[in-house]
Amino acid sequence: MASTARSAAQNAPRGIAGNMAELVGRFGTEGACEAHMIALRWPGGFECPRCGCRSYARVAGRREFRCAGCSWQFSATSGTLIAHTRLPLTKWFRAAYMVCSDPRGASAQAVARECGVSDATGVAMLRRLRAAMGFSMRLCRVGGDWVEVDGASVPCGNGGAVRHAGSGLRDAPVELAVSGSALVARALSDVTAGSLSEFCAAHVSRIHPVRLDAHPSHGQALAGGWDLRGRPSAADGDSEASLPAVHHCVSNLKAKLQGTCHGVTAGRLQEHLDEFGWKYSHRRGDQLADLLAELARWPHVRLRDIRGVAQAQPAHAGSLDPGYRHDRGIERRWAKRFRRDLATLVAQVALLKGASLTHL
Ligand SMILES: [Zn+2]
Repeated sequence: MASTARSAAQNAPRGIAGNMAELVGRFGTEGACEAHMIALRWPGGFECPRCGCRSYARVAGRREFRCAGCSWQFSATSGTLIAHTRLPLTKWFRAAYMVCSDPRGASAQAVARECGVSDATGVAMLRRLRAAMGFSMRLCRVGGDWVEVDGASVPCGNGGAVRHAGSGLRDAPVELAVSGSALVARALSDVTAGSLSEFCAAHVSRIHPVRLDAHPSHGQALAGGWDLRGRPSAADGDSEASLPAVHHCVSNLKAKLQGTCHGVTAGRLQEHLDEFGWKYSHRRGDQLADLLAELARWPHVRLRDIRGVAQAQPAHAGSLDPGYRHDRGIERRWAKRFRRDLATLVAQVALLKGASLTHL
């Protein structure tokens, strides 16, 4: 029987902080974390957005910097998802490390304990980190040598924290698209050809072979425009053998929702699906480096609006899907903040990020 024990070379730290000792060594001080965030936001070196000046200095005694040209004051996080945070960046980096280092993800209690914050703050930190992943997953389109698309039901609570697994749970429909390099999972309001079609239009590549189960709604949803291969007939029944990857992912997802998360509410299900999909899609890279880059890349959003981020429908190449759903309240708040509407913002970000968001 082959041994599963890993050698020292296999366990050697990888990426920007492969183990806790490296994290503390590299990002153990506030200054080091600030320098990393500034480097992520201005990869070519700082350039003032107001006057173009390329030098800045720290404001004495504060967590802020000042442009040498026009005196514009900024912090390492201003305008990012973790703007206005009162927590030290070292704690954010530690929480991000915990999310990335454990394949099952981190629980809020574990983050709170490790970072020395309250449980409520631990929950809020994880929700922000998941929002960063969620922005990215909104724009992810799954493609590759093969793509498997299938639906599943996952247990989640109706409201309030689910204290005991198995109590007050109901099954929520979820649709997954999986390839060797990417996974997108979305909670659906219903399992109709319309909502499946909307999911596939947003997240499934039209130029790669797609494998489906025999469910009639899938056939209708993907009737036009996709390269359907090896579709089993209804008589074949069991789709487990024909869609092994997606079924493997569904059982991992259920274990995560009930194990690490101890059950999730319906309202937060999408945030957990985003984390699950993002971690799968970045599993071969340096997850911590990627997650910190997501934190620096996406704009600030209030905690109460994060659910809106999770539910916003994506836009590709500047053209909105006909099924785009508007949330007027969130749109107004975002419009005020960014002086443009949410749809335009998502479309512009999609254009800016371009091919890098299509996982092929
Ligand atoms: Zn300036």
